[in-house]
Amino acid sequence: MTDADLRIQLAQANHILFDQGVLDAFGHVSVRSAERADRFLLARNMAPVLVTPADVQEYDLDGITSDPAPSYLERFIHAEIYRARPDVHAVVHSHSASVIPFGLSSTPLQALFHMAGFLVGGVARFEIRDVAGDATDLLVRDAALGAALAATLGDAPFALMRGHGSVAVGASLPLAVYRAVYAEENAALQLRSRHLADVVPLTDGEGRSAAETNAGQVGRAWDMWRRLAARHDGLRAG
Ligand SMILES: [Zn+2]
Repeated sequence: MTDADLRIQLAQANHILFDQGVLDAFGHVSVRSAERADRFLLARNMAPVLVTPADVQEYDLDGITSDPAPSYLERFIHAEIYRARPDVHAVVHSHSASVIPFGLSSTPLQALFHMAGFLVGGVARFEIRDVAGDATDLLVRDAALGAALAATLGDAPFALMRGHGSVAVGASLPLAVYRAVYAEENAALQLRSRHLADVVPLTDGEGRSAAETNAGQVGRAWDMWRRLAARHDGLRAG
């Protein structure tokens, strides 16, 4: 894929994540440049469902772009994860509702079904108070906070951010989008099953096997999600 292709795919990822209830007016998704590993693509500061390929900006790993249009305040989430994780080619940052409670509580977010098998790899937990005290606005608004979040994420595919949201990463845009969608779905299932006795999560082996199988099936979901998201195309006409 060229970066021109990735700009189109990134706009689609924005629309899908809105349609699937992972992003609303806030949150964002990025992809590493296919042409330069030290660059990434991210929309300008705007609601995800309204993003077109022309709204995509190119950033370096310091979170700097030559495009004068306003940037997302939290672009450092993306910049510092790409710096720390050469294997990561896409990052989703969201405030999706069912995930939030697990960032607040010591109750672990567990993989409860095969579609979320990737969660057995460990869910990181970012506590902004550990690095910036107890009076921040919770936003990852500079490189130091982004680096702290990336360090907390470590090798994991997913990180909770207390009182704020989460980060899902992947080796491709469709995989990172898949993880963001199914982390939210899994969190909703875990909340729904909390009154049941003897809930049995996936074992590490089950989760790893399921994640490997599902990584080869992501295209099926992407194609459907893309078509479903087209119902919002009229929003970009106005
Ligand atoms: Zn945020």
